[in-house]
Amino acid sequence: MNQEEPTPITWIRNNQDKLVKFIQELVRIPSVTGSEEEIQKFIYKKLTELDLKPKFIYPDIETLRKSDYYFKTTSYTKFGYKNRPNVVGILKGAGKGKSICLGGHVDVVSPEPIEQWSRDPWSGEIDGDFIYGRGAGDMKAGVATIIFALQALKETKTRLQGDVFIETTIEEEDGGIGGTLYLRLTQPKADAALIPEFSGPAIIIASAGVMYFRVIVTGIPAHAATAHYGVNAIVKMVPIIESLKSLNEERQKTISYKYAEVEPRMKGKATTLNIGVINSGDWPSTVPAVCVLECRIGFPPGETREMVINQIENTIKNAANKDAWLRDHPPKIEWFGWNAKPHEQNPEHPFVKLLEKKIQESTGITPEYIGGSAGLDARFFVHYGTPAVSFGPYGENLHSIDERVSISSTLKTTEILVCTLMDWCGVELDK
Ligand SMILES: [Zn+2]
Repeated sequence: MNQEEPTPITWIRNNQDKLVKFIQELVRIPSVTGSEEEIQKFIYKKLTELDLKPKFIYPDIETLRKSDYYFKTTSYTKFGYKNRPNVVGILKGAGKGKSICLGGHVDVVSPEPIEQWSRDPWSGEIDGDFIYGRGAGDMKAGVATIIFALQALKETKTRLQGDVFIETTIEEEDGGIGGTLYLRLTQPKADAALIPEFSGPAIIIASAGVMYFRVIVTGIPAHAATAHYGVNAIVKMVPIIESLKSLNEERQKTISYKYAEVEPRMKGKATTLNIGVINSGDWPSTVPAVCVLECRIGFPPGETREMVINQIENTIKNAANKDAWLRDHPPKIEWFGWNAKPHEQNPEHPFVKLLEKKIQESTGITPEYIGGSAGLDARFFVHYGTPAVSFGPYGENLHSIDERVSISSTLKTTEILVCTLMDWCGVELDK
């Protein structure tokens, strides 16, 4: 190699303004789950320019239904999959090296309430080391690191031996079914996978089981002046709520998971049952006849979905049996939306160890292993036999107001990504 030719790392450092501009461009395209088409077209164009052979992959619901990990997402119910492509591309290796898949989701959660933001959530404004905007940290900067890492290899004519598959996916915020799951069912299997989701200087090796359920209690409507002629559905829901609250406390006392409890505030909170929505009643002068409660249960690796479903249904049944009305009019329980199985990636796998080493070399920090309290797309790779972790740039206020991502951390992540690729896939020496 000629001494003056830049390495991929020096190329990244010399071109950081291009990376920043690219993240801003991504942030400026609103892509709330369900509206991913425009940003995917933008990425397709970028991958074409880099000769990464992009393709649009539209999810097919019949194929998805055959998977054990399928569930009907709320965004599919609302928008279908017709205008919601995934984008895949490939940086073809010279041969004989190990392959890798780099994945990232392009959908973001709603920026509401916008009036609470100190700036336009779709502006990509810069202040100091931070780029602001909905999706800046979750995970448009991460998507940019993937594309920029491959650009650095191309621009410096660094030829890898193994193939690098790249995918930008839809619907992660709603369970990843039409995105990362669909691609596991239809795309070639890689030897490892990395998703640059926000992680701080840590490696995420686990995700939670996440399920949604709904409890419906019915009463009898009546005029408020003769309320005793009716049965108040809100009042009848109270013992159900109390029982779920006690179940949550009991579970938090007995269930622990070390990777979920690394952060001090997460101690004893590896599992959570959240009462998220309650709907009932028309106005103060009527006894409400129906009350609907919606909850999310998150649980770390260790329990199965069936175990958790049984426990929750029994808790509700036992609470109902203590009340004469509810005993005769049992609450209805419906499981809907999120139905994710937890996963844990073995931290001893050579790919995980390699990434750890590259982070150490680049930052001087030994990253912690974390995860297991939220659902993650990485689980689909692991469920289908590909070792996978998440590691990405540092961000703040994700899913909140004034979301922002650190520019220096995004650059560092890109460098670590390139070093990991060169080591994992191998570099062809004679070019
Ligand atoms: Zn994300």
